Amino acid sequence: MTALTDLPQVSECSIDGCGYNHEHGCHAGAVTIAGGTGDASCATFIPLSAKGGLDKVVAHVGACQRGECVHNDHLECGAPSIRVGAGATAADHADCLTFATA
Ligand code: SF4
Repeated sequence: MTALTDLPQVSECSIDGCGYNHEHGCHAGAVTIAGGTGDASCATFIPLSAKGGLDKVVAHVGACQRGECVHNDHLECGAPSIRVGAGATAADHADCLTFATA
């Protein structure tokens, strides 16, 4: 059985405008990756200047809805870790940069 701590870490996130981002690290307990076909958006992004989350925690990927990604298995992420960064458009705030299709 997989423990929650075995889930992939968010090794880096460059989205400074998110309330969970402290110095390019994500400190949410876990993130959900959602979006639409071909666009793996971080659904945990929240545009707050107030910082939240847990200081000593590095976020894990709790769930991922991008079943077409090569790393996805039963709607969970199987990558060793992921990176989150700017989305493809200005309206697309934060994307999983580790997303890949075969
Ligand atoms: S690497 Fe793929 S499966 Fe893992 S979180 Fe990103 S989009 Fe989802």
